[in-house]
Amino acid sequence: MKKLIIGNFKMNTTPSEFKSYAMTFVTKVKSSKNDIVLCVPYTHLSVAKELFDKSNVDFGAQNISEEEKGALTGEISASMIKDLGATYTIIGHSERRTKFKESDKSINKKIKTALANGLKVLLCVGENLQTRTNKQACQFVKKQLDDDLKGIYENELESVIISYEPIWAVGTGKIATNGDIKKMAETIRKEIAYLYSEKASQKATILYGGSVNINNYKKILQLENVNGALIGGACLDVDNFSVIAREKF
Ligand code: PEP
Repeated sequence: MKKLIIGNFKMNTTPSEFKSYAMTFVTKVKSSKNDIVLCVPYTHLSVAKELFDKSNVDFGAQNISEEEKGALTGEISASMIKDLGATYTIIGHSERRTKFKESDKSINKKIKTALANGLKVLLCVGENLQTRTNKQACQFVKKQLDDDLKGIYENELESVIISYEPIWAVGTGKIATNGDIKKMAETIRKEIAYLYSEKASQKATILYGGSVNINNYKKILQLENVNGALIGGACLDVDNFSVIAREKF
């Protein structure tokens, strides 16, 4: 069964370095049956458009402004990235939530802005270590979903992909246990059923992210209810990431 494999470049590579990565990547993954997306810095979007146009690789940004336009120096809007050919944007990545103090209210607004501009949303949710240690992870993620998806209609949900990314596992080399990933993926599906419908829950695309790499991806991607992976650090190695993106699951 095909999976959704998304790479998150974070703030890495220059546009020229990305160009040579992208040229190699398209060739290596051209026969892949998976859905493949690269989320790149804004400065790389035009390179992505040039190299991924007519390929099987989609691309997106890592954040957008919650506003459409205006006096917001340094911000980038949904329509700007859409115009550059992006089809996706990450929203609510744990690095934005923790380092840039993004609230669920702002994330909710960003999701609405992205959808209104025809972008697909990769919504990241996940608990910190203390919340996991206190055995409140499922409750915490359910509340994030309730807040982040407030006012989003069921017919829009097709364009919202949910990635479970425990904060303590992102970029740390630590990984959630298979049991915890399975349980959280199931919790997310049940919450979608509660908020929307059983049909919406079955159709939902749920990813895992947090230190996925060439050595552990196979086990994670075969877990029940996990439809793909969001991969940060490990996507920077074009050879290894191509292997993951080409895998037959
Ligand atoms: C991410 O950036 O969303 C991520 C999961 O990073 P990493 O794979 O490096 O943990």
